[in-house]
Amino acid sequence: MSGTIEILDERKPQILEKGKDNREIVCGKASAAGSVSQRACVFCGSRVVLYPISDALHLIHGPIGCAAYTWDIRGSTSSGPELHRLSFSTDIREREVIYGGEKKLYAALNELINRYQPKAAFVYCTCIIGLIGDDVDAVCARVQREKGIPVIPVHSEGFKGTKKDGYRAACESLFKLLAKDEETPVSPFTINILGEFNLAGETWMIKDYYRRMGIDVATCFTGDARVADVGRAHRAKLNVVQCSGSMTYLAKMMRERYEIPFLRASYFGIEDMSKALYDVAGFFKNDEITQRTRELVQSEVSRLLPQLAEYRRDLEGRTAAIYVGGSFKAFSLVKALRHLGMETVVVGSQTGAAEDYEYLKEITNEGTILCDDANPLELSRFILEKGADLLIGGVKERPIAYKMGIGFCDHNHERKIALAGFEGMLNFAKEVHSTVTSPVWKFSPARMKSKKKT
Ligand code: SF4
Repeated sequence: MSGTIEILDERKPQILEKGKDNREIVCGKASAAGSVSQRACVFCGSRVVLYPISDALHLIHGPIGCAAYTWDIRGSTSSGPELHRLSFSTDIREREVIYGGEKKLYAALNELINRYQPKAAFVYCTCIIGLIGDDVDAVCARVQREKGIPVIPVHSEGFKGTKKDGYRAACESLFKLLAKDEETPVSPFTINILGEFNLAGETWMIKDYYRRMGIDVATCFTGDARVADVGRAHRAKLNVVQCSGSMTYLAKMMRERYEIPFLRASYFGIEDMSKALYDVAGFFKNDEITQRTRELVQSEVSRLLPQLAEYRRDLEGRTAAIYVGGSFKAFSLVKALRHLGMETVVVGSQTGAAEDYEYLKEITNEGTILCDDANPLELSRFILEKGADLLIGGVKERPIAYKMGIGFCDHNHERKIALAGFEGMLNFAKEVHSTVTSPVWKFSPARMKSKKKT
């Protein structure tokens, strides 16, 4: 079957096999026409970053179809208000396309702010708004004046670029909410977490690690975040950036304006989770914090390793394909799988940078396929060629795995299981184990044809 799946010529520079192709991978460009990319649009990038602010109003200015993907499908949880789980749209139709949608936007903002009393409002511009040229900035400024809350336009017109441009638009919007609170006291050991969205409560787990170390978290961008938290983030001593693809831009702006340094971290897998905590402890150069961090990591890892060993017995020698949004997560997954005795044979991302792919090349084995901005056919072909037993991805990759007759692990924003932190590593092992060892795959036609082990 794999022999019948052709790769488009235009896509070939964005794919390479380690040990065979001695060149740099091409990345960071618009998706090839006809490729049916797994990438989402600019608006999706903005929405992913801003939606977890749970006391804000999130209004999509555009046709109703753009809002379809937002109805409570995210795993981002809140310990308080849940306004972020409601999906609002101005439902732009032909009439507004001809006469403009500003009146409808103004009316929608007024109605929603009166009804829900949010602490701020984000207005997401979609493709059609960019085309018809509504002055969204002017409407937002007017409503902000009249209602006395920040009303922030997010310029996330889908056609403007890639999902990364949506991240950037979200960062610019968040930047406008900073520095509103100069009063609330902050400790000298305060950090912000950037790029952590509290999927299945992961922010709470990570915050608890920091609490045990003696570190305060001023703001998590944007897991379980409130508008007021964002307002005091400028007074933290360090920014810890997890989802670097989405949040490095904000970290750089904060470094420039507020002189807050930043470091990159990943909370997935044992090494990267431990390193994230040690790096933060190292930044503060405080003996007590260093000692507490050591104790925390030792106790968590010593509890975790024997439990992982049980899963490893069944998984040893199995192989995995990884296709995720940001490549930083892919690094951690390659390492986490090794703890389970599994090697990665295909790895790719929607938004990786050249240096990320170089690092992936370093940490994977000869013969591993690396791909940037892949499409379903390419992923199917590589899975079959390499005989992967598992695909790790998101909602759009799940059907690919099942059609190929292999296990699937959801590592995207829709998941309901915490996979970050030490506890998350154990959940990850359970997930991988249950799907890879499921007896159902031996009935899969694709599997029977390719005579792979089940
Ligand atoms: S590409 Fe444009 S029309 Fe499609 S969902 Fe994104 S913003 Fe809406």
